[in-house]
Amino acid sequence: MLDVAPARQLVLDHARPKAAVELPSAECLGLTLAEDVASDADSPPFDRSMVDGYAIRGTDLSSGGAELTIVEEIMAGAVPRRTVAIGQCARIMTGAPIPPGADAVVMHERTELLSDSRVRIRDEKFRPGQNIMPRAASLRRGQIVLQAGCEIGPVEMGLLAEVGRARPRVIGPITAAVLSTGNELVPADRVPAEGQIRNSNGPMLAAALRRCGARPVELGIARDEPDELRRRLAEGLASDLLIISGGVSAGALDLVPGLLRELGVEEVFHKIRLKPGKPLWFGVRRGEAGSAQKNAAPTLVFGLPGNPVSSLVCFELFVKLALARLAGREAIAALAGTSAELTSEFVHRGDRPTFHPAVLSHASGQSPSVTPLRWAGSADLRGLAEANALAVFPAGDRTFAAGESLTVLPLGGP
Ligand code: AMP
Ligand code: MG
Repeated sequence: MLDVAPARQLVLDHARPKAAVELPSAECLGLTLAEDVASDADSPPFDRSMVDGYAIRGTDLSSGGAELTIVEEIMAGAVPRRTVAIGQCARIMTGAPIPPGADAVVMHERTELLSDSRVRIRDEKFRPGQNIMPRAASLRRGQIVLQAGCEIGPVEMGLLAEVGRARPRVIGPITAAVLSTGNELVPADRVPAEGQIRNSNGPMLAAALRRCGARPVELGIARDEPDELRRRLAEGLASDLLIISGGVSAGALDLVPGLLRELGVEEVFHKIRLKPGKPLWFGVRRGEAGSAQKNAAPTLVFGLPGNPVSSLVCFELFVKLALARLAGREAIAALAGTSAELTSEFVHRGDRPTFHPAVLSHASGQSPSVTPLRWAGSADLRGLAEANALAVFPAGDRTFAAGESLTVLPLGGP
């Protein structure tokens, strides 16, 4: 059976960043930029007032005060029409261009209007150039403001707008079909009949995908019946990723691996030395040459175990890695865990490494500590709800002493 680390490497080996596309920037939140973006202009594009007040000539204010003639009023968005000469000033608003002749702005609070055209200035703290943001102080025309590979968040959105890039080139949004399999499953809004349970994996996996910036295509529930299942799996293969839950173990109705093979999905691995999550299936359906699918990007297919905690652990360890690589984000093959000290003695038994729900805490000035939670196994989602991390116990029966160092995988986030 494959270990977690080489299995993660196999996932990475099969995942390629999606092609770049041009999209309206409003659709780009969370996507990866696929080009360097340069500014199309200086910013600010002109010497700009930072305050409401009076644009003056510094030499008029040598003793900190003066009475000046107001020659015009300049609003943000307007263009100055007059040059400020000796003994003159212009009333100016925040964001407006500095008129020729002026070299500083005195804020409104340090002035007193004497008449419609006269103002007294009293500014003991005056310094030349004050309250002016010079042209290009923030960035110069042609300067790279965002680099290919960065993730587009709110600040990047603002910068794209500032430099006029309304349709940036980005790595295309990742679509991920989610199919829950099982004769026993009913949707959350139904009361299960005898022998039935509600589908918790579907909503959970769709949410996990959304949080990673992917777009889930929710395919609902499929019965463990070959024709129906084949049809629904084929539907899911239209997405970049197909995520199936259930039907990948050794039961009589675990039909998923066989049907995927029939549909042309090549198995990369099946079963992992991992608890929970042993039955994980991973394969790839390559783009078919010569058909409508020509040049189509491959679909990565994950068959996650049906038990919800197993499903989520496999999502954290494997699906996230594929999502990061597809999205063009830097993905790390090594298990991205941190190290923390066990808060109390813990007995671990098992022939597979166990990812145990735990609370990771990091009080200031102290080293990180980890507390494994009471947990009833792979079907116990409630036990996972209290966790913010998974504590990794290596295979083998052994008692871990308080203070021992463990690898811990924080949960959540992209
Ligand atoms: P399977 O992997 O199909 O053998 O399912 C393993 C266990 O997980 C069984 O007890 C299933 O009833 C349960 N299970 C399967 N799919 C789901 C689901 N979508 N939500 C909650 N439990 C599930
Ligand atoms: Mg099943």
